[in-house]
Amino acid sequence: LIEPFLKALPILETIEEHNHQAFFVGGCVRDFLLGRTIGDVDITTSARPEMIQKYFPKVIPVGIEHGTVIVRNEDISYEVTTFRIDGDYSDKRHPDSVMFIDKIDKDLERRDFTINALAMTKDGEIIDLFDGRGDLNQKVIRTVGDGYERFKEDSLRIIRALRFSSQLGFMIHEDTLKDMKLVMQDIGSLAVERISNEFAKLFAGKYVETGISYLRTTGIYKYLPIFSEHPDMMKHIPNKITPLLSFGEVIALFHLLEPNISVKNWVKAWKCSNQIKKEAVALIQAYDYYVNNGINNWLVYSLEESYYNGFVRIVNVLQNKIVTYDDLIKVRNKLPIQSRNELDINGNDLIHMFPDNRKGPWLHKMLSAIEKEVVFDGLKNKKSEIKDWIKCHPPETN
Ligand code: ATP
Ligand code: MG
Repeated sequence: LIEPFLKALPILETIEEHNHQAFFVGGCVRDFLLGRTIGDVDITTSARPEMIQKYFPKVIPVGIEHGTVIVRNEDISYEVTTFRIDGDYSDKRHPDSVMFIDKIDKDLERRDFTINALAMTKDGEIIDLFDGRGDLNQKVIRTVGDGYERFKEDSLRIIRALRFSSQLGFMIHEDTLKDMKLVMQDIGSLAVERISNEFAKLFAGKYVETGISYLRTTGIYKYLPIFSEHPDMMKHIPNKITPLLSFGEVIALFHLLEPNISVKNWVKAWKCSNQIKKEAVALIQAYDYYVNNGINNWLVYSLEESYYNGFVRIVNVLQNKIVTYDDLIKVRNKLPIQSRNELDINGNDLIHMFPDNRKGPWLHKMLSAIEKEVVFDGLKNKKSEIKDWIKCHPPETN
């Protein structure tokens, strides 16, 4: 066993000591077999959630009614889910009802794709009831059971197939692909939050071109928010595209490709958080400025440093030129000031200089003008020099 599994081992052992079964399951087993970095280690067990709550000191009941709790161990969270079969997904979010069961086989059968329906014992033995390993070897995404039925049960799986092809670079099995196309209209009635999560992962995948190409050729995009009304959107996506790691970057890209659709519309249609909106707006502003001015002091000053990597990724998708994070940081490190409150002058100083002026917009304008002068290095950030400069650039009175 490798590190992430070793760390989770005590959880399996504790459950087994209480005479229940427990396995590693899903993405972690798949990624382990592929030699990829393992994300979260998920656990599936015959023990009911209430029992898990008794066995461990730190348990968070995140989805008890669906059989899922989080067990915290040495600062790592593990989703522990009781073996279950799902009822209908009539609300398109969660199964209406779940039934807990005592054996793992039906639990694996409810999972979406063969490569995700793998489990592993604490001794490293793989449980593979649907030839998931065969599909891993052949790099194929294939539903567990009949694709048409599985996509009818939950059409989010259609988007998930695209996102796994984008993350893993796998082909989608021809039967599965055919069934995806038969059911794709159902995507329209999914909860948007579920789609956006998978859609963001699609754009972040290492093999994003594979995922986008499926998105395009199947026509699935026509059933997504915004795309359903603006199908031409899809044509604008560059053929050569590199991964975008956050949804804010994705929205920024689409807005830059099709400025007629506002960020506000995107955010509303895709039910994004304010944080994502803020990121998209910042990236768009920075990109527009960059197109006209290139990299300069003002660009790196006005863009929050946490957005630098996203900005670089956007530039690299839209332009052939390569801008790197280091290019930006080098300029940032030489800036005379890093933020406005480092200015050697403030609003009060200005009011003292112009006692006859009432407080008003001139103050803000003046400070912005000084800030720009200082950032561009034309003006020394020293009170006396700034005052001299102001004398030559007096405020418009109001
Ligand atoms: P990642 O590494 O991105 O987390 P993952 O395979 O762990 O990939 P999750 O979305 O975290 O994907 O889901 C965990 C597991 O739960 C999947 O591997 C799959 O077995 C099962 N699963 C998740 N969503 C569905 C679904 N909509 N239908 C059926 N099975 C699902
Ligand atoms: Mg996961």
